[in-house]
Amino acid sequence: MASIYEEVEIEDMTYDGDTQTYFYPCPCGDKFFIPLEDLYDGEDIATCPSCTLKIRIIFDEANLPELIAPADEEEEEKEEKS
Ligand SMILES: [Zn+2]
Repeated sequence: MASIYEEVEIEDMTYDGDTQTYFYPCPCGDKFFIPLEDLYDGEDIATCPSCTLKIRIIFDEANLPELIAPADEEEEEKEEKS
């Protein structure tokens, strides 16, 4: 079981829309990060690339920003019956 440094509300994190990643400052001077896609996968642990600390993110999937799928996504167009 991972040891959690802190539990953080997602509202307190910084969201980078370009990389679709959430950041939160780590006491070591670096930043915890977790991709938005991981949150949709049910992952709630953000890690720091410079140390072993982890944080648990408190979030509601319904409130997450829209995940933008890769350009090669296949969308089936449904014909609406009138
Ligand atoms: Zn750190």
